[in-house]
Amino acid sequence: MESSQLKENLDKVLEEIGVAARKAGRSDGDVSLVAVSKTHSAEMVAELYKVGQAAFGENYVQEAMDKMDELRELDIKWHFIGHLQSNKAKQVAGRFDMIETVHSLKVAERLNKAVEEQGWTQPVLIQVNLGGEDQKSGVAEDGLLQLSARTEEMKGLDLQGLMVLPPFLGDGEKTRPYFVKLRRLKADLEKRLGRSLPHLSMGMTADFVQAIEEGATLVRVGTRIFGPREYC
Ligand SMILES: *Cc1c(COP(=O)(O)O)cnc(C)c1O
Repeated sequence: MESSQLKENLDKVLEEIGVAARKAGRSDGDVSLVAVSKTHSAEMVAELYKVGQAAFGENYVQEAMDKMDELRELDIKWHFIGHLQSNKAKQVAGRFDMIETVHSLKVAERLNKAVEEQGWTQPVLIQVNLGGEDQKSGVAEDGLLQLSARTEEMKGLDLQGLMVLPPFLGDGEKTRPYFVKLRRLKADLEKRLGRSLPHLSMGMTADFVQAIEEGATLVRVGTRIFGPREYC
């Protein structure tokens, strides 16, 4: 894709984010865009960075690490948004600005141990599985409080909120109920933990507008910016 096209796509998405935020009585700055660059090259990431996008989301550990190495001169904020296997936790700990997909105690413990050894604190989100689909990762709703409370106790982890990847329904109005649900879960959790959690990561190409209307602070958009993905 031409970089002028990338910039045009980015500008349109940012404009729509602003419109949705204001419509919901929020300000543009309340919502941050995470550009999802999985399967796209480091060159594309660099192009988008050059036109002003700083945060990028990656799903696959090795692919992400390769891009980070290649682009280490750039001040990119990397978010890990893929399924996190516990045997990969050590590898990702401390390499991402945000790990959005903590879904089990085992993953949290391994991340915590690895960052403690580095003398660092890792910002994390807990991924919640609201679809009840076995193939999607995320902690089930009834395990959320316990996982959050345990994560809170871990000195190496800084719990900043929740993330959801709803079943793909292709229509933003169909996924809206998941966003409402996640917002309520966060509010409930804030009461139980006695502190506020800054982030709700929800909304992708098909439904980021609805997600923002329901309180998203991070939207993860790939296709609308980079075009369709080709898997090899
Ligand atoms: C791929 C992916 C996205 C981006 O999806 P698009 O529909 O391309 O915007 C967002 N979140 C997660 C977790 C993803 O895996």
